Amino acid sequence: MPSKDCIFCKIANKEFNTEFVVETEDYVSFKDLSPQAPVHALVIPKQHFASLNEMKDAELMGKLLQGARETAEKLGVGDNYRVVINTGEKAGQSVFHMHVHVLGGRAMHWPPG
Ligand code: AMP
Repeated sequence: MPSKDCIFCKIANKEFNTEFVVETEDYVSFKDLSPQAPVHALVIPKQHFASLNEMKDAELMGKLLQGARETAEKLGVGDNYRVVINTGEKAGQSVFHMHVHVLGGRAMHWPPG
């Protein structure tokens, strides 16, 4: 169920003038408000899922990964980028509308903090 208070539902519904990097009928991607790398974008399904754990549609999950790849390419980091899905508060999830982070433009370290 979409939440009327969900900021990412509002972004997907074009309630703000968010510039999309990629848009399809299933998802949109856009730049993160608080970038953690020179390139940092988010890919979100248009449909509301609180987290990865609520998603059962494997085809849609695959489409989000395609969206991450296309977003990285469009933002010029298609050869080197990191994809992150924080699931649950302790894993760092702060917005409870499933999203895929796409980070690039600098060297990445492992393990992440
Ligand atoms: P997470 O901590 O994995 O849930 O990631 C949430 C991400 O959403 C953070 O990187 C935030 O900077 C980002 N964010 C929150 N609100 C907005 C917004 N209105 N537009 C773009 N990015 C946002």
